[in-house]
Amino acid sequence: MIVVMRRGATKEQIEHMINRVEQLGLKAHPIYGTERTVIAAIGEKRDDFRHSLESGAGVSEVVPILAPYKVASREVKPESTVIRAGSLAVGNSNVGMIAGPCSVESEEQTMSTARAVKAAGATALRGGAFKPRSSPYSFQGLKEDGLKILAAARDETGLAVVTEVVAESDVSLVARYADVLQVGARNMQNYRLLEAVGNQQLPVLLKRGPAASIDELLLAAEYILNAGNPNVMLCERGIRTFESHTRFTLSLATVPYLHDRTHLPVVVDPSHGTGHTNMVSPMAAAAIAAGADGLIVEVHPDPETALSDGYQSLTFEQFEETMQLCQRVAEAVGRKICSA
Ligand code: PEP
Ligand code: MN
Repeated sequence: MIVVMRRGATKEQIEHMINRVEQLGLKAHPIYGTERTVIAAIGEKRDDFRHSLESGAGVSEVVPILAPYKVASREVKPESTVIRAGSLAVGNSNVGMIAGPCSVESEEQTMSTARAVKAAGATALRGGAFKPRSSPYSFQGLKEDGLKILAAARDETGLAVVTEVVAESDVSLVARYADVLQVGARNMQNYRLLEAVGNQQLPVLLKRGPAASIDELLLAAEYILNAGNPNVMLCERGIRTFESHTRFTLSLATVPYLHDRTHLPVVVDPSHGTGHTNMVSPMAAAAIAAGADGLIVEVHPDPETALSDGYQSLTFEQFEETMQLCQRVAEAVGRKICSA
């Protein structure tokens, strides 16, 4: 249910209604909009209390939330959410550009990439220190040493660091170094991990599972929001289909569909979404044209020798060209790639 407060409802009336919702055994999520405040009342049996809440002072109406996800839905919060983390701003007219290597491999590789993507106009640095690999024999990441390299790259370039956390037990360690926690596609339905990233305050980049529906993605986001972290970015990174000309099938219709249903920003990953260097730039541009609030792109100083995902990584030069193309497309659709 959503308790919609009247325009001009007082702070005391809002607080009273939050307390009322909690007294009824429901969880209250107040959302303070520019126009008015709404309180999402979440929990089982929520509809039983509708009439009792409707009589509260300052209440305009009490309406059921139709979507299976609640706090993530636009019904609850009509204004788009803008997420800021250091240099990164994602949402509304801000398009964030997160770029960097798939994996942190060495100080030299990460530093040189950070400098190159920053010079080209990226607004955040990506890089995996904990890697979820399909094979246990593949490079698993430099772990805490990799996090230290990312933090050093942030110190030098000012770029916010986006890096993956693969386990609940690593959340506090990764959060000490990162500006944004990435939850990878393989972990989209790891509910204990989602709760753990929801119980801390860094923004989360939540990637769509390769076999997950959009409702499942939104319900995964709901776990993070429901735990108390309002800063979630959704990421379309391609799904598994019968098609084999690309690594995954990058569904760009996801972007306008999500914008219709959720206030959360939508980021697109054209690197994993295609799996081919030569397709990254056109799909990056297409994603911005479709309304994406951000991109996450893999860049490597020497893709041929990369320890992971070299076949979909851009060289510095290719990234610079991609940035220029994306800047032109962003401008054409009335948006801007810029740092916070
Ligand atoms: C990555 O970003 O390097 C990654 C592992 O992505 P995904 O979780 O989308 O496969
Ligand atoms: Mn990768």
